[in-house]
Amino acid sequence: MLLSELRHHLYLILATLIVVVVASLLAGGLQFMLISLCCLFFLWLAGYWYHLFKLVRWLERPKLRNVPQGIGIWNNIFNTLMLQARSRKKRKQKLGVALLRFNRIAETIPEGVLILGQDGHIQWLNHLAAIHLNLVAEQDNNSMLADLIENSDFRRFLDEPVTESLNIKLTLENINSGLPRVLNIIRTPFDEQATLIITQDITAAEQLNATRTAFVANVSHELRTPLTVINGFLETLTDMPDLPQEQRQSFIALMSKEGTRMNHLLADLLTLSRLENQVTASLCKQSLCLSILVEQVVYEAEILSENKHRFICEIAADIWVEGIQQDLYNAFSNLLFNAVRYTPQYGTITIRLYMEQNVPDCSQQIVFQVSDTGHGIAAEHIPHLTERFYRVDSGRSRESGGTGLGLAIAKHALAEHGGKLQIESITGKGSTFSAILPQMNNSKVLDSSRTPA
Ligand code: ADP
Repeated sequence: MLLSELRHHLYLILATLIVVVVASLLAGGLQFMLISLCCLFFLWLAGYWYHLFKLVRWLERPKLRNVPQGIGIWNNIFNTLMLQARSRKKRKQKLGVALLRFNRIAETIPEGVLILGQDGHIQWLNHLAAIHLNLVAEQDNNSMLADLIENSDFRRFLDEPVTESLNIKLTLENINSGLPRVLNIIRTPFDEQATLIITQDITAAEQLNATRTAFVANVSHELRTPLTVINGFLETLTDMPDLPQEQRQSFIALMSKEGTRMNHLLADLLTLSRLENQVTASLCKQSLCLSILVEQVVYEAEILSENKHRFICEIAADIWVEGIQQDLYNAFSNLLFNAVRYTPQYGTITIRLYMEQNVPDCSQQIVFQVSDTGHGIAAEHIPHLTERFYRVDSGRSRESGGTGLGLAIAKHALAEHGGKLQIESITGKGSTFSAILPQMNNSKVLDSSRTPA
C-alpha cells in the first residue's frame, strides 16, 4: 500500500520536474530553468526536513494521541506508523494480561514450580517452591539451587543427567515451624536451556501412611494375643481328651474371656471408624436429656464397681443437648468405666454434670466431669492418652478388659458434638476427666451421695 503510494509520489515528482523544465525553458531559457529547478529543490528539501523533524520528535515520545500530521506521502507514512504503534500497544496489553494470568495460575497451583537454567541457576520460581525449599524468591533468583540447599542427596539428584522425569523424596526443615517437611521433588526436561523442578509437600500423606501402618500393626497385635490363647487351649483340649472336667471348664472360661475381649475390640474399632466418618453425624442428631443419660451411665458403673467404690453424684436436672445418644453414651461411659477400672477398692468416684459460662465468649457450656482417687497418670502420658491403643499400664488395661480405644472414642464423640475432652491428673492422688459440650438450658442441681454397701 505504502509502496504504491511511494510510486505515485515518484511519478508526481517526475511530472512536476518535466512541467517545470519545459515551462521555464519556454518562458525564460536555460538560465531561468536552472533557477526554477533550484527553487523547486529547496522547496522539496524544506518540506522533507520539516516532516523528518516531526517524525523524529514523535519517535522520541511516541504517543498515539499526538501522531504528526503531514502532506502527501508523509501523511501516509505517519498513519502507517500510528497503526503499527496502536497494534503494538494492543499486543503489549494482551501479553500483560496473559503474563498476569500465568502468574496467578503459577501461584494457585498446589505444587511448587521452579525453572532451573542449564548451569543450575534459578531462572524462575513460584511462591510455593520458595516455601517448600526455604528460599526467598526475589533474593535467590539467579542463584545456584545446589548452593542454597545443603543436602548431598539433593545435589546428586541435581547432577544427574535428565532425559526423562526423575524424582526424589527429601526431608527438609520447615523454617516457620521447625518441624520436618517431607517433599517429593520431580525433575523433568523443559527445553534445551532449562529443566523444570516440581515440589510436592507430602508430609501429611506420609504421616497418614505411618499412622495407618502403626494402626494395622496395633490391631494385628491386639488380635494376635487372644487368638494365640484360644488356639493354645484348643490344641491342648484336642491333644488331651482325658483332661479333668474342672480344668476343661477353666480353659473354656479363659477362651470365652478372650473371645469377649476380641468382640469388644471389634466393637470399639467399628465405633471409632464410624465416628471418624462424620458424613451422617449431623443427620442423626436429636434432642436428648443428658441428665437421664448420665444417671443411666452411673447406674451401670455402680454395677461394674461391684460395691468396691464410693460414688458421689452431682447431676443437674434437665440438661438437654442436640446430639447422638449412642455416641455421647460411649464418651461418658468410657470416662466413668475407666474411673471404676483404674481406681482401687474403697476409692471415691465423683460424677458431676453442670452448666457453666464459657469465659472467652460468655456462651453456656455443659460439663460432664469424672474425678477419681485412683493412681493418677504421669504428666508425660496425658497428651497421648487419646491416641489409639495408647496405654499407660498395658498389663492393667488388658487385665481389666481394656481395648486401648476408650479415650480415642470419647475424644471423637465429643468432637462430633463440637466439644472437647480435658484431662487433669496427679500421680498418686487421682484424675479428673471433663467432657465439655457447647450449649444450653437452665438447670437445677440434684445432689446425691452413694457409698459402698
Ligand atoms: P483402655 O481400654 O486401656 O482403658 P483408654 O483409651 O480408655 O484405654 O485409656 C487409655 C489409658 O489411659 C489406659 O490404658 C489407662 O492407662 C489410662 N487411663 C484412662 N483413664 C484413667 C483413669 N481414670 N485413671 C488412671 N489411668 C487412666
